[in-house]
Amino acid sequence: SNHLSNRITNMSTSATLAMAAKARELRNAGKDIIGLSLGEPDFNIPDFIKDAAKQAIDDNYSSYSPVDGYADLKQAIANKFKRDNNLTYGLNQIVVSTGAKQSLANIAMCMLNKGDEVILPAPYWVSYSDIVKLAEGTPVEVATSIDTDFKMTPAQLEAAITPNTKMMWFSSPCNPSGSVYSKEELEGLAEVLKKHPNIYVVSDEIYEHINFRGGHVSIAGIDGMYERTITVNGVSKAFAMTGWRIGFIGAPEFIAKACTKFQGQNTSGANAIAQRATIAALEAPVSKIQFMIDEFHKRRDLVLELLGQIEGFNLNVPEGAFYVFPDISAFFGKTLNGTTINNASDLSMYLLENANVATVTGEAFGNPNCIRISYAASEKELKEAISRIKAVL
Ligand code: PLP
Repeated sequence: SNHLSNRITNMSTSATLAMAAKARELRNAGKDIIGLSLGEPDFNIPDFIKDAAKQAIDDNYSSYSPVDGYADLKQAIANKFKRDNNLTYGLNQIVVSTGAKQSLANIAMCMLNKGDEVILPAPYWVSYSDIVKLAEGTPVEVATSIDTDFKMTPAQLEAAITPNTKMMWFSSPCNPSGSVYSKEELEGLAEVLKKHPNIYVVSDEIYEHINFRGGHVSIAGIDGMYERTITVNGVSKAFAMTGWRIGFIGAPEFIAKACTKFQGQNTSGANAIAQRATIAALEAPVSKIQFMIDEFHKRRDLVLELLGQIEGFNLNVPEGAFYVFPDISAFFGKTLNGTTINNASDLSMYLLENANVATVTGEAFGNPNCIRISYAASEKELKEAISRIKAVL
């Protein structure tokens, strides 16, 4: 309708949510769909976190919360940054938001002017490019491939920088590729950025704990980067708290202040009960969630082994998160059961309609040669899904 703004008309619908809706529709029509499209842990929230939320309700945490988060939650976040990342953030540098997604939207709205360029190593998380566009910024995709484990090299970063470059956004562990940048790789990028002191970095570390190589590295901890990095994190993935909607940033104070101002005119403070529960989550030793990480690790190995037996699936070894991102371009131009596969969307749709397995096309993540398969599903479902995929290919 022409009554709607250009802003919303030009925005793409989240491809992951669209695939979930399509899968739901088919399921309602009686099809036995296995959903491997969503980025959501299939575990229950640990009991000690639930108990903290129940206690918060009984303690009447029912009023508006401070816009930037409760002071004791921000202290728990500061302690977490120190404990896990060796980063020192004062409470005036921390902002709690309604999910890391809101943290990212705040940053875009507070830092970008029309035409400012944001470098996005591709594949990147689906929402980055639309969040940047919403703030009238210009996403600049830097294509990587399976040959470099889907990581951007310093030379690629250098080549993408223009006088209009304002920021670079990336996630490590990466959604969708599962790639984890090593300290040396981040130092290489920082070396390039040193020559361009006006460029700010968004380091999205929401998968920090779901890391199978161990030793998560925050780019803010690398020489010269702290002053111009916004470290984004949250409890959705590591604590299986996706629906509770708590994310946060550690940032230079002027950015934290701006995000608080923006959020204050937009949504106010995040949900009070969820904030209280987040204190319990962050204060617990990481050993309390190790069982989930171990389970994801086991499933990753299983999925790699089974997918590796399918001809035409070219796989990297994801070292974190809970996705595999096979390059399936070997199928392009082939006709399967009467359907011609021209791109990743075609293959993803073919798998949905013929194998009853929901995946997500890599196009949504800025890589048209791949599809994303989430292994946040039971071992039984994963085995069944991959055997169906194999059968129809
Ligand atoms: N960043 C990345 C890389 C993600 O994969 C996700 C969720 O899928 C988010 C941010 C958003 O997390 P939240 O649930 O905290 O909004």
